[in-house]
Amino acid sequence: MLNKNLQVIRLKKNREASVARHHPWVFSGAIDQIVGDVKSGDFVRVLDNKNQLLGIGAYSESSQIRVRILSFAGEEINTEFFAGRIERAFIKRQHLLSQPNRTACRLIYGESDQLPGLIVDKYEGYLVCQFLFAGLEPWRSEIIPLLAKFSGCNGIYERSDTTSRDKEGLTQTTGVLWGEAPPALIRINENDMLFDVDVATGQKTGFFLDQAENRQYLRKHSADQKVLNCFAYTGGFSVAALLGGATQVISVDSSAPALELLQSNLNANGLGAANHSTVNGNVFQVLRDYQTSGEHFDIVVLDPPKFAENKNQVNKAARAYKDLALQACKVINPGGLLVTFSCSGSIEMNLFQKITSDALLDANRQGEIVHYLHQGEDHPIALEFPESQYLKGLACRVN
Ligand code: SAH
Repeated sequence: MLNKNLQVIRLKKNREASVARHHPWVFSGAIDQIVGDVKSGDFVRVLDNKNQLLGIGAYSESSQIRVRILSFAGEEINTEFFAGRIERAFIKRQHLLSQPNRTACRLIYGESDQLPGLIVDKYEGYLVCQFLFAGLEPWRSEIIPLLAKFSGCNGIYERSDTTSRDKEGLTQTTGVLWGEAPPALIRINENDMLFDVDVATGQKTGFFLDQAENRQYLRKHSADQKVLNCFAYTGGFSVAALLGGATQVISVDSSAPALELLQSNLNANGLGAANHSTVNGNVFQVLRDYQTSGEHFDIVVLDPPKFAENKNQVNKAARAYKDLALQACKVINPGGLLVTFSCSGSIEMNLFQKITSDALLDANRQGEIVHYLHQGEDHPIALEFPESQYLKGLACRVN
């Protein structure tokens, strides 16, 4: 359909500023008028109060984010449009994927690639995707073959089993979308570390690709260190520490299946059990147990799940992050490293730094930041869309 025939969403007076700055979300409260019978998945023209075109977006009737803009340039949205966006996202990551020791990478990161609500991760010859926006639903049958064509993959698997689908009024869904079903475990190479990824039942799309660069950081600093890897999942940081020359690594996670896969990931990298052990438990308790037993570490990694889902949960999450860092500091040798992360988008770096500072103060330890850590470059942060920045970390020397 030609753009001029699209239905219209007109914004309230003085509510156009963020869209005019190319932020892609239009919240329900900013909408003055919906002209005609607009349904989920329809493309709409978004106009300011003076009828100037701000962009072309797709509509989602049950979400608070009522429209996500696909084009600020007013292009026609059709198969060629999606082909262009997908190709551009893949080209951006070519330098990563052309490395022989890198066979997994995020290929499409939603709004940061101007494809709102679409996540695509590559694991060797397979893609795993999440469709998280009602506006893209009518375009699945166009997008899926384009993903196959540009990636040359063997199969595409869907992991749209996330609560953000519920907010969009969509049912959660998983399964093969195109081509071959992936094997139960896909072996990937991340900077010469091998990991088996369970894309069907693992967390998110199976692996935390966003930590790739931070694993390299840990690897570089692990020689002769005793490392406690908290929230270890399938052992990304544990393998990195051991390959980096750690003398001993303990991996803690509450998920038994994750720890099982961690064990086979150690084997895949030729790492024996001699200097590694797992603890299947609650990190908050395990850290307290080590204080009681007097066990200390040179490096403690904290990579917990998202504690704040939204801005309302920031205070509660801040208390949990602080408690973790406080308990961790108590088991760090003087001069050791605390490597602490937050993947909560609503906890900004400044706040995270303050939380960490408060924790050290309470632990009666002096500390300094020796490195700021972030999500990897395959998860780029769009300047006009600060929400795309979510993973932040601090490497702190704890004296
Ligand atoms: N660092 C990992 C990713 C961590 S994801 C990596 O690089 O791959 C968060 C992990 O925390 C999950 O594996 C989850 O099982 C675990 N988890 C969540 N709450 C926990 C708790 N209270 N104690 C221990 N593990 C927990």
